[in-house]
Amino acid sequence: MSQPVATTFFDLLDRYDAILLDAYGVLVDLSGALPGADAWIAELNRRGKPYWLASNTAARLPESAARRYQGFGLAIPAERILSSGMLLKPCFEAHGLVGKRIRVLGPEDSRRYAELAGGTVVEAGAEFDALVLADQAGFPFLESVDEVLSALIDKFDAGDVVPMILPNPDLVYPTGRGCGITSGAVAVMLEAALRQRYPGRPGLEFIRLGKPWPGLFEAAVRLAGSRNVVMVGDQLDTDIVGATRFGIDSALVPSVLTGNRRALGGVEPTYVLDMAKRQ
Ligand SMILES: [Mg+2]
Repeated sequence: MSQPVATTFFDLLDRYDAILLDAYGVLVDLSGALPGADAWIAELNRRGKPYWLASNTAARLPESAARRYQGFGLAIPAERILSSGMLLKPCFEAHGLVGKRIRVLGPEDSRRYAELAGGTVVEAGAEFDALVLADQAGFPFLESVDEVLSALIDKFDAGDVVPMILPNPDLVYPTGRGCGITSGAVAVMLEAALRQRYPGRPGLEFIRLGKPWPGLFEAAVRLAGSRNVVMVGDQLDTDIVGATRFGIDSALVPSVLTGNRRALGGVEPTYVLDMAKRQ
């Protein structure tokens, strides 16, 4: 295996037809834009370079996300934002969930994603046909997770099949002060509880949509009209492993999440970005 090459973000712009950017840990954290992110976006916009955010989130619609980024000084238009929430539509179509009753855990935009995908979003406590665990925030956490777990157990006890969908499989994200748990970690917890009750039963796993699965990479390559694209991300498990499996290059932004790790399960990024030269 070759060693990842140290390079800068600006060097990547000449080598690729399009740039895919992760959001959290690359451009922003909870508190605002990360140092130098404004210069990256300004240069992409100035050059007219094709770029897309490929973000594991179903918590904000592209328009809401664009407004938030603009508030952080990042001029990212909504049409440049690809989110794993947008993958709910093909997922609902593939699993026959259009028109079905959907329980959504997440903020208001998560519910909108489920509606835009063709689902009928139901309130807490109501009967549902499928669960979308869209985000870890935007709802009373313990009460909602307990309610959903209890409802799933009632349904599984009755022999029902209940699709459980996880647009954002990330386990952790950088909060700006450290690490926080993400919806993927909540899914792992629910899966463990269900596996304990129904050992060996199939159908207890969430359907995972975002990176490292191929949906966002497929969408980006389709829009770019080229496979000569590079994924810039801070998570080995999602950004780097996902890009590598999909067959495109990747650039790791070292962050609190990667620490000193530079490879995972034999997968290494093509590049490691020199963040000292970020600004
Ligand atoms: Mg990230």
